[in-house]
Amino acid sequence: MNLPFHGKKVLLRVDFNVPLDEHHRITDDTRIRAAIPTIQKILDEGGAVILLSHLGRPGKKRLPDGSIDKERFTLRHLVPRLSELLKRPVAFVDETVGPKARAKAASLLPGEVLLLENVRFNEGETKGDAEFARQLAELADLYVNDAFGTAHRRHASTAVVAEYFPKGKKSFGLLMQRELENAGKVLSHPDRPMTAIIGGAKVSDKLLLLERLITFADKLIVGGGMAYTFIKAQGGKVGASLVEDDRLDTALSILQTAREQNTELLLPYDSVIADRFAPDANTQIAPSNDIPDGWMGLDIGTTAREDFAKAITDSKTILWNGPMGVFEMPAFAKGTEAIAHAVAEATRKGAFSLVGGGDSVAALKQTGLDKEVSFVSTGGGALLKFLEGTPLPAVEAMEA
Ligand code: ADP
Ligand code: MG
Repeated sequence: MNLPFHGKKVLLRVDFNVPLDEHHRITDDTRIRAAIPTIQKILDEGGAVILLSHLGRPGKKRLPDGSIDKERFTLRHLVPRLSELLKRPVAFVDETVGPKARAKAASLLPGEVLLLENVRFNEGETKGDAEFARQLAELADLYVNDAFGTAHRRHASTAVVAEYFPKGKKSFGLLMQRELENAGKVLSHPDRPMTAIIGGAKVSDKLLLLERLITFADKLIVGGGMAYTFIKAQGGKVGASLVEDDRLDTALSILQTAREQNTELLLPYDSVIADRFAPDANTQIAPSNDIPDGWMGLDIGTTAREDFAKAITDSKTILWNGPMGVFEMPAFAKGTEAIAHAVAEATRKGAFSLVGGGDSVAALKQTGLDKEVSFVSTGGGALLKFLEGTPLPAVEAMEA
C-alpha cells in the first residue's frame, strides 16, 4: 500500500458490514477495527479519507412499499464508534455520488475523514454499473480497496471503480494485502505435509474446493454434514443424515482421484448420532457407515476426533473451512472443538494454519482459540473462491 497519499483524497472501500441490534447498536465491531490501520496510515501520511462500504442487503430487505429501509441500513449508525476508534471526528453524508457527497468530498482537507452512505442504496452497486463507478471515482485522486469479504463480487465499488484509476493510483489496503498473502501461502509452495480440513453442511457448496484440494493437499479431512454423502456413496448406511443424492457420483470421483493422486482422504470413522435435529435429542456414538434408520450424524465421533487430530498435529500447513458438526448446539460441538485444539497444537509446533469461513470462524471463536492459529480470514465466499482458484474481480481490477 505504497501510494503517494500526501495531499490526496483517497476513496477507501472497506467492509463495515457489521451486525447491529434492533436499536441500531453495533454488536460486534471487529470489521471496523480491522480497517483502522489502513485508514490511519493514509491519514498519517497526509491524505484525506473518503470511506465507502455496504451494510446488509438493503436491496433485498425492502420496506412493504418497496422502498429502501434507510433507517435500518444507514451507515450513520457507525459514525460514533468509528470516530471513537480513530480518535477524531468523522463527517457523514447521506448519499454516495450526489451533489452533497461531491461538495463534501471536494472540501475535505488532509487528515479529515468522510463516510459516505451505504453504497448498496444505489442500484448500480450490485449491478456493477459503469456510470455509478465513474461517479464514485470522480470523488477522489486515489483508490484503495480493503474489503476482502466482497472481493469475489464484480460490484461498482469493489471492482468496476478500480478501472477508472490507472496503475500507481490504486492499491489494496493493509487488511486485504494480508488476506491475499496468507491465502497465497497455503496455495503456493506450502510446507508439507499440507492438510485441508473441509466441513460444513453440503458437498455442493464446496465442490470446486474439494476437487482442487484433492490433487493439491497431502491429506484431505472431510467432516460435517458433507461426509455422509461420501459415506453413502461407498455403500454405507447413513440413516437420516444429511445426504445429497445427486452428488454421490461426484463423491465417488473425488475418492477415485484421491487414490490416483495418493492423497489421503479421511472420513469420520464414527459419528455422534441423534434421533432428532434438536439440542436435547437422544444421542449415541455409532460407526458413520452403520447409522440406524431415523438417526442422523450431527458431529464426528470420538474415534474420528482422534484420527483427525493425529493427522492435523503431524502437518506443517493447515487449511480449515467448515465445522465438523452442528456446533451451534453444544451437544454437537465437541468434534469441532477437538479439531480447533489440534490446529492450535500444530500451530504451536510450528505449522502455518489458516481458518476461514463465517461459521468456522464463529466456531473457532467459541472455543477461544482464535488467537492460537496463524491467520483467521475475514472472507467467507471470497476466500473459498480464491482457494478454488477462481479469479476475484476486485483483485483482477487492481492488477489491470
Ligand atoms: P463456513 O461458513 O465456515 O464456510 P458452512 O456454512 O459451509 O461453513 O457450514 C456450516 C454449517 O454446517 C453449520 O450451520 C453447521 O450446523 C452445519 N453442519 C455441520 N455438520 C453438520 C451435520 N452433520 N449435519 C447438518 N449440518 C451440519
Ligand atoms: Mg456458512
